[in-house]
Amino acid sequence: MIVSRFAPAPTGYLHIGHVVNAIYVWGVTRARGGRVLVRVEDHDRRRSRAEFESALLLDLAWLGFAADEPPVRQSDRGAIYEKALDRLRAEELVYACGCSRGEILSVNPSSAELRYPGTCAGKALREQPGVGVRVRLERSLERFADLRHGLQEQRPSEQCGDLLVRDRDGNWTYQFAVTVDDDEQGVTLVVRGDDLLSSTGRQIQLARLLGRAEPPQYLHHPLIMKTPTFAGGSGGRGQKLSKADGDTGIRELRAAGWTSSKVMAHAMALVGSG
Ligand code: GLU
Repeated sequence: MIVSRFAPAPTGYLHIGHVVNAIYVWGVTRARGGRVLVRVEDHDRRRSRAEFESALLLDLAWLGFAADEPPVRQSDRGAIYEKALDRLRAEELVYACGCSRGEILSVNPSSAELRYPGTCAGKALREQPGVGVRVRLERSLERFADLRHGLQEQRPSEQCGDLLVRDRDGNWTYQFAVTVDDDEQGVTLVVRGDDLLSSTGRQIQLARLLGRAEPPQYLHHPLIMKTPTFAGGSGGRGQKLSKADGDTGIRELRAAGWTSSKVMAHAMALVGSG
């Protein structure tokens, strides 16, 4: 049985980009007779708000997207992440890291993404509050066939270096939480936007280090862009839509009198654009 998920972060309201993603998630999964889970990705405790979570779930239901199980929330899953971390610890795959973002940036200011150079890898620092935890990555090349992009090759050790599992403030990181969740929830199909394509190799490797035999299948879809024709849209052509775009909030459209069918029709017209 195919199991997929819709995994919004409650750091803002549901926007049209979420709706397009939901159309892909439900559409591709249902077309294969699969089940869809909803997972509230509130691993970032500073930016997540209960108010956004309830609004996201309400708007999703208003649009008619129904999950096959009650939603789960990452902030309720600490014990699951602890257990996964213990497993990596038992294999001696983790180490404590005291580096700040600024320190890491200063080593490698020009790289395309923040790449951890392994500064603390050999220091045997003690795990304690105020210190992060990283997992040692293999140097391997990760190969996977994306359902839209075809064969992909990524070397996470060169893209991002040893992955942060828990940051210095005690927050579980996106990469770790999502990989543990996809494994623990039995997710076999991940349908998400192209902005996460570069994260996929590292998630596949991390899942393997955590003992997952078979990684999920992946489909990365185009991200929609802001266009001048978008209702009330103020942005120019070619800008990526983001949660910061107040004019794209579904609740604002609803408040302006849009029906759910109208929102869905609008989102459908954006599917495949990019
Ligand atoms: N929570 C992520 C987001 O809101 C999506 C994570 C994923 O699909 O892997 O962008």
